Amino acid sequence: MQPLTIRHGKLPAEFISMPPVSSRSADPTGATAGFYVADVHIAKGRIDSVSTTAQPAPDALNADGCYVLPGFVDIHVHGAMGRDVMDADPHGLLEMARFFAGHGVTSFMPTTMTASPAETLAAVDGVSRAIALQQTLTTAAARGARMLGIHLEGPFISPQFPGAQPANQIRPPDVHEFETLASAGPVRMITLAPEQPAAAALIEAAQRRGIITVYGHTAATYEQCQAAIALGVQQATHTYNAMSGLHHRRPGALGATLSDPRVYAQLIADTIHVHPAAMNILARCKGADRTVLITDAMRAAGLPDGQYSLGGQDVFVHEGECRLADGTLAGSVLTMDKALPNFLAAADQSLAELWPTSSRTPAMSIKVDHEIGAILPGYRADLVLLEENTLEVAATIVQGEIAYLRHVARRQI
Ligand SMILES: [Zn+2]
Repeated sequence: MQPLTIRHGKLPAEFISMPPVSSRSADPTGATAGFYVADVHIAKGRIDSVSTTAQPAPDALNADGCYVLPGFVDIHVHGAMGRDVMDADPHGLLEMARFFAGHGVTSFMPTTMTASPAETLAAVDGVSRAIALQQTLTTAAARGARMLGIHLEGPFISPQFPGAQPANQIRPPDVHEFETLASAGPVRMITLAPEQPAAAALIEAAQRRGIITVYGHTAATYEQCQAAIALGVQQATHTYNAMSGLHHRRPGALGATLSDPRVYAQLIADTIHVHPAAMNILARCKGADRTVLITDAMRAAGLPDGQYSLGGQDVFVHEGECRLADGTLAGSVLTMDKALPNFLAAADQSLAELWPTSSRTPAMSIKVDHEIGAILPGYRADLVLLEENTLEVAATIVQGEIAYLRHVARRQI
C-alpha cells in the first residue's frame, strides 16, 4: 500500500490544529467559512498527518476546489443496483459496496428485512462471506466501501408499524433466535420495538454482545421509549417513519426522540419520507451531533424507474418514490451524496455546521468514532472529496486507497 497525499483540499477547521496565521486560507467571502485548505498525508491506510504547508509527496491527488470530509457512513441500507442483502449473495453485496463508494460512502452496514428465521440466517451468512471475499480483492476499486457489520431491521418489531416490512414475518422478541443470528455473523445493530413482550431481555442480550439497540417500527409510548432509553436503547430508526407520532399529550416515540439529548435520530433525507419542514425541525432538535443521515435504499437505487421487489413484495419505483401496491413507502433510491445536500437545504444550515451527520455522527452512534469519522492522525484514511460548487463526489478514498475517482486528470504523480 503506497503513501498518498490529498493536496489542497478544504477540510473542516476542527481537523487543522492551530494553523499558522500566514497559511490560513479560509475564503474571506464566507463561502467556505469553517474550512481551511490543507494537505492530508496517508500512510499504511491511515491518516499520517494534516499539514497546511506543502511537503513533498510521492503520490498526490489534487483536491483543489474540493471539500475533503470523512467518508460517508451509511448504517441503514438494504440494497442497490438490483441487489439486496436478503439475496444472501456475496457478489451482490460487493456490487453494492462498489456502487456506494461511487457515492462517497466508505463504510456501510448491510441491513436485513423482517423475514423468516432461515432467510435472516442466510442473509447474515451472506454478509460474512462477502466480508471474507472483499478482503481477498487487491484493489480498493474492486472492494468498494467497507462493510461494518450487519443491521438487523426486525423481525422483532410492532405489527402496528410494519412500514414495508412483511407483516406476516413480524414476531415477538425471541432471545434464542437473536442469539442464533448474533452467533452466525457480524451483527452490530438491531432495530426492535421496545414495547413488545420480552424486549427488555433481548436488549440486555444484545448489549452483552456489544450490539447497538435501536427503537423503530414501534408503537411505544413516550414513557416506554424513556424506559428503553434508560436501558441503553439510544437511537431511533428512520425518525418520523413507522413510529408513534408526536401528540402534545402523548409525545410518543417521536417525542422521545426529539426531546432526549442522548438519542441519535436516523433520518431518510430524501424529502419523500419526511417533509423538508420536518427535517428542519429534526435539525433544530437533534443538531449535527445526534442526527444520523441514512439512505434506507433498496435494490432499485442506481437503476431506472420500474418494478422491483422488497421482502418478497412488489415495489413500484416512480420518479424516486418506492411504494408497495397499496401506496406504502418501501425503502428509497437515495444515495448519501444526495442525502447531505437535501438535509443542508431543509435545515437551512451550512456544510460546516452539518457535515458530521453523514460520517462522524453515524460513527458515534455505533461507537466506532475512535476509528472513522475524523481526519486526524491515526484514523482510518476513509475520505470523500466533494466538488465545492455542486457537492458532487469527486473521489472516494477507502483505507488510504482510491476506490472511486470521477476526474482521472486530478491525479498528479
Ligand atoms: Zn430499512
